[in-house]
Amino acid sequence: MSKQTDIIISGGGVAGLCLALLCAQQGLKIAVIEPYPPKSAEITSRTVALMNSSLNIIKAVDGLWPKIESIATPMEQMRIIDISRAVKEPLRVEFPAHEIGLEQFGCNIPNVPLRYHLYELAKAHNNIEIYTGALSTYESDLHHAKVSLEDGSVLTAKLLVGADGRSSKVRLDAGVEVERFDYDQIAITCIINHSLAHENTSTEFHKPYGPLALVPLSDGHQSSVVWVENKERAEAILRMKKSEFEQALNDKSQGLLGAITLETGLESWPLSTMRAKRYVGERCALIAETLHVMSPVTAQGLNLSLRDVAALAEVLIDQARLGLDIGSDTCLKAYEKRRRLDINSRVMGVDHMNRAVSSQNKIVKDMRRIGLRTLETIPALKHFAMHVGLAPQMDQGRLMRGEGL
Ligand SMILES: Cc1cc2nc3c(=O)[nH]c(=O)nc-3n(C[C@H](O)[C@H](O)[C@H](O)COP(=O)(O)OP(=O)(O)OC[C@H]3O[C@@H](n4cnc5c(N)ncnc54)[C@H](O)[C@@H]3O)c2cc1C
Repeated sequence: MSKQTDIIISGGGVAGLCLALLCAQQGLKIAVIEPYPPKSAEITSRTVALMNSSLNIIKAVDGLWPKIESIATPMEQMRIIDISRAVKEPLRVEFPAHEIGLEQFGCNIPNVPLRYHLYELAKAHNNIEIYTGALSTYESDLHHAKVSLEDGSVLTAKLLVGADGRSSKVRLDAGVEVERFDYDQIAITCIINHSLAHENTSTEFHKPYGPLALVPLSDGHQSSVVWVENKERAEAILRMKKSEFEQALNDKSQGLLGAITLETGLESWPLSTMRAKRYVGERCALIAETLHVMSPVTAQGLNLSLRDVAALAEVLIDQARLGLDIGSDTCLKAYEKRRRLDINSRVMGVDHMNRAVSSQNKIVKDMRRIGLRTLETIPALKHFAMHVGLAPQMDQGRLMRGEGL
């Protein structure tokens, strides 16, 4: 016999769990399917830089912020250093948050504890049931979504949400096509200790083959690193001994943070871009990396995903409050319409940015430097760029603004 619920969410990553908790808090009954539950809150090499509007969304999850506040490091200043040309003085532009009347742009948060605490909150919530396993099939009719798990259990709901990541089974079963392009790039991530304080500044070096980002962590002498190189160079870096890597990173970052030692091991992430052609199917909505995957340049991925979460939660709760069907075509189309412009513009914008930042072409390099110099010299333009980088002007829902659901 199948078990019935309001919403089934396939995928207990940060996006899926946030959506589960936001909807459960409003009284909807949720089933979360996740084959790999987090085992501990141990900090590994990956962190996410979340902008203020994304922090507003995760702060709307009851009980989450007190658990992660101590490991969320404010980013009070962004710095870009262009080292793409062999010139004595690299081009350097600083963007302090106070110049646009803010204390911080957002916070840098380690991924694993963020997901762990969301998972623990979901486990303890009366309106959420977690199924440890993988979704194997999804079918739908006019009134229900029906899913089978690999262990044979069957669940039905008014709506199925695909939050099962870039290789989504839900997206596949819903027949949603994607556009995808792979880059010849790998991101290497780790956490480092450094002798000079980071002063809550996040630095991005623009260099051939991809950016190098140093993002502050809560210990003032610790930062997370995202170092993008082409595959051949990245593989050589991954083969380095610890001391060789520390020296190479110190050289590449021009000694900006003083002497460097590795705190964690190195991890690597092949980079690609993907966007789905549709965001919904019959009795089914897609969110986060099931819809879009981007290069980590400018740190937009989870920020965009949390905006999907907020938009879907708002549309569903508005519908439920009116006593209407949360899986109806009208409801799903409203979600898709709301998200299309933000997703398309960010995915294409980040793709262009990644190509521009990594380009070896002299004209592109010169244009990039001229652009940075212009931002440096025209404050109004610089402040506009800071606002645009911070949050989209479209789809400003109530959760993003820090209002309740
Ligand atoms: C190097 C790097 C740096 C980044 N830095 C930033 C940053 O600074 N800021 C930012 O905003 N973003 C950043 N991102 C992007 C961000 O990390 C991702 O967008 C985010 O982690 C993806 O979360 P998610 O919940 O969408 O997907 P996932 O974490 O992939 O979650 C999907 C879940 O679905 C589960 N699943 C898979 N198959 C099934 C199935 N059949 N049934 C049920 N469940 C299933 C998986 O186990 C997984 O738990 C970065 C990405 C990279 C690679």
